[in-house]
Amino acid sequence: MSGPPEAMVVCRGVTKRYEGAEDGTLALAGVDLTVAPGELVAIMGPSGCGKSTLLHLIGGLDTPTAGEVEVTGQRMDRLSEARRAVLRRRSVGYVFQFFNLVANLTVADNIELPMLLVGAAPAEARERRAALLERLGLGDQHRKVPSQLSGGQQQRVALARALANHPPLLLADEPTGNLDTASARDVLALLRDEHAGGQTIVLVTHDERVAAAADRVLAMEDGRIERELRPAAGDDLGRALAGLLTPAPPGG
Ligand code: ADP
Repeated sequence: MSGPPEAMVVCRGVTKRYEGAEDGTLALAGVDLTVAPGELVAIMGPSGCGKSTLLHLIGGLDTPTAGEVEVTGQRMDRLSEARRAVLRRRSVGYVFQFFNLVANLTVADNIELPMLLVGAAPAEARERRAALLERLGLGDQHRKVPSQLSGGQQQRVALARALANHPPLLLADEPTGNLDTASARDVLALLRDEHAGGQTIVLVTHDERVAAAADRVLAMEDGRIERELRPAAGDDLGRALAGLLTPAPPGG
């Protein structure tokens, strides 16, 4: 039962039906997925196909209607809310579209606090914070509070905070959404570096440049993983995704 898990994430037959969904529509209709330690997996697909739901279930922010979700070898779906919160804090870094930065803390404190809470030395926390902000083009912003930053800047601070403690698993929903080209490039470069350093990452993206950096791209449709592509192995993302992301012709 000890030692590093063979899989960082395992989903078996994961199904999600939201309360009140009319006609019993499933947000997820039986997803099987294994993410190996160190893998970068990108989830793509049209709006409403279940990408965010899958990310939330993997992150333990919600529970599946049926099926199993395992993170670092632990059954996330079987834990009580309190134990799930502990597993989340210990194992998962999140970058979601709502940024959740602490409004009355400076950028520096927002990023350093999670490190201090797990016992990092202040000097060490400061150093990692400075390095992360520098790589995200925010080296001179650390004294500001979140409301003094643009949405895109806050999003990058949230990424720095999520990575601060080297979580076993990083989950990111549209990490380059809302960003100008230069900022998106900084974020992608940081994700690539972290991935090269062994960080496991599962992200949702519409950005083909981000997808191209992934070991695997999961193309979702109607609550299912319809296709798996491997950009690094030469799969032509552009062509494969063009077909998938374009609405099917009526009656087809
Ligand atoms: P995506 O991230 O691919 O846009 P989502 O996972 O957000 O898709 O949504 C999948 C489906 O579940 C959609 O039909 C959406 O309307 C529905 N859905 C998502 N969140 C909720 C919720 N909290 N309550 C009810 N329905 C939801």
